[in-house]
Amino acid sequence: MVHISVLSGIGPKRAEALAKVGISTVTDILNLLPRDYDDRSEIRTVDSLVAGAVQTILGVLAQTPENVPIKKAGMTLTKALIKDSTGTLELVWFNQPYMSKNFKHGQGYTFTGTVKHTYNNRMQMQSPEYEPVGEVPLGAGRIVPLYTPPTGFSQKTWRALVHQCLEAGDNIITDDLPEEPRKTYGLCGRADAIRNIHFPESEDMFLSARRRLVFEELFFMQLALFRIKERAAEQAGIVFGDADYSPFIKRLPFKMTQAQSKVLTEIAADLQSGTAMNRLIQGDVGSGKTAVAMATAYMAIKNGCQAAIMAPTEVLAQQHYEGFTKLFAPMGIETVLLTGSLHVSKRKTALSQIADGTAQMIVGTHALVQTGVEYRRLGLVITDEQHRFGVNQRFTLKEKGESPHTLVMTATPIPRTLALILYGDLDISIIDELPPGRVPIKTYALNGTYRPRIHEFIRKETAAGRQAYIICPVIEESENDMANVLQYTADLRRALPNLRIAYLHGRMKPAEKQEIMDEFIANRNKVLISTTVIEVGINIPNATLMLIENAERFGLSQLHQLRGRVGRGKEQSHCILVSDSNAPVTKARLKAMTETTDGFKLAELDLKQRGAGDFFGTRQHGLPSFMIANLYRDMDILKEAQEAAREFGNNKSFTADERTVVYNRLAGVL
Ligand code: ADP
Ligand code: MG
Repeated sequence: MVHISVLSGIGPKRAEALAKVGISTVTDILNLLPRDYDDRSEIRTVDSLVAGAVQTILGVLAQTPENVPIKKAGMTLTKALIKDSTGTLELVWFNQPYMSKNFKHGQGYTFTGTVKHTYNNRMQMQSPEYEPVGEVPLGAGRIVPLYTPPTGFSQKTWRALVHQCLEAGDNIITDDLPEEPRKTYGLCGRADAIRNIHFPESEDMFLSARRRLVFEELFFMQLALFRIKERAAEQAGIVFGDADYSPFIKRLPFKMTQAQSKVLTEIAADLQSGTAMNRLIQGDVGSGKTAVAMATAYMAIKNGCQAAIMAPTEVLAQQHYEGFTKLFAPMGIETVLLTGSLHVSKRKTALSQIADGTAQMIVGTHALVQTGVEYRRLGLVITDEQHRFGVNQRFTLKEKGESPHTLVMTATPIPRTLALILYGDLDISIIDELPPGRVPIKTYALNGTYRPRIHEFIRKETAAGRQAYIICPVIEESENDMANVLQYTADLRRALPNLRIAYLHGRMKPAEKQEIMDEFIANRNKVLISTTVIEVGINIPNATLMLIENAERFGLSQLHQLRGRVGRGKEQSHCILVSDSNAPVTKARLKAMTETTDGFKLAELDLKQRGAGDFFGTRQHGLPSFMIANLYRDMDILKEAQEAAREFGNNKSFTADERTVVYNRLAGVL
């Protein structure tokens, strides 16, 4: 570890400032990778400059720079003149009078900046970066790194600092990647990679540097996930002697699908195995994950344990509470609800029932994991709609018990390679079948001119006894002129005065939200206008119409989730996507929605178009953040890294030293 104080230009003050942002060693500086690059390898002559582009020229300063005050504008212009064999060019800086002292008449420099036409059609380079000729070129005549430097450093000074660190020698850069994958996958050494990721010698060198670093990052992360999984496998789980769930199944108003039964068999085996279950159920919207969760909870309770299910919203928790109670109460099983909005006295009762074991089935939001919630004997934890939680949140609920069994459910279908990253520590079960008798939803993509006809359609559907959801992207009027819940409600009430129309959004109090949901469930309200708060989990089979305004604002996976709120009963359901956008990408996306109801296909498409970060939304998506890897673009490297990590676990050709190095490094990740 070489401390940054050895670097020239870093005094105690700067060292302290950098320490505050977590930079204290040369390695820390080298680990701050460029955010982008500028190809300045081409040096232009004055007569070949074009206006509007960033270009680099090399020449001699033809005149001592001067500062020109511009009184009217209240600023100072610094002007200089550079000359090469083809002509002269004016250089200007705004409000940087000290610039004039940086140059010597007759000296050679490179200048890089945007060239513009001035009033009399002369060319001018504005606020250029510069470098004296003779020094190692860092800012011109090469591919130049662009950083997000810590406060107090300019691009230029930071670049110089990075260069200084690289000069300190390759021996400060240690290579933890074992030789075997390095050879097998043709990866360059770490020192080479670091040098070329900062100052690429060529595009090819850059690409191999990047490939090496991405590989390394994904390799170690995969190994870490495999380790977590190994540890989980070593963790003893409560053995459920009686894993017969048929008494519960008999009480269901329907027959389990084959896919549901298959998953339940897998779960039952886990529960009897002696190690703690860590299983993910992936099943498209409406595939019946809740019933599987209930059967699993039934087994836990029958074996004298408590079971808990955590949902991302209060509305969904309430729905689950009612669903579980309905089936469990007649079997003598006590279900208790715990959410953040519970009244103090109710909360107290719930807490004591959870602590003394009266509560056998516990349903709630993340209130379930808060301090002060003590469980009597928590043997099973279920997270519903896992993609709405961060990865870590599922670990916190688990900690409330003594190595309880874990079941994680999600409707977001994700490609297997990505699933390995998000859920590499879990076994995966897939429910790949919908309950029978579902009528496929009809989907239409329309523009706003159809709105009156759509509203007439709503009138007809509701007159026939059914219900409709309308989704607007925002709650109230905003500058970007999107459909908003409040205005839409007012307008629709005017257009359809005899209809009971309610609205719902995330800023309402939980009790208010619940009241509106209850009214809708009871079919007293016929239309529910809302933001995406109803996106996850809501199950109201009588709702047959989903109308989404400004559909271009939503990702494909989200549209698919929203559409999944209908088509849950025996009636024909419809999903109408309204958008006035003519953007080809939008048109293609909405068309895809009309052509397929396969969540996997839509997710792949979504991922391709938006990249992994956006795909999982801006909210806590649970994806680990990477220094360099881009999960979509680097899918091929990810596959290789996964392969290599798996080999590392089995292959005997790794030396003991390599293993030690790798496991030391993993200690930091785990
Ligand atoms: P999701 O997988 O999206 O959570 P749910 O568990 O909410 O789906 O189930 C959707 C609907 O399908 C519910 O009304 C549920 O009662 C019903 N359902 C679940 N399994 C079956 C089945 N095997 N046969 C018929 N209906 C089922
Ligand atoms: Mg669900």
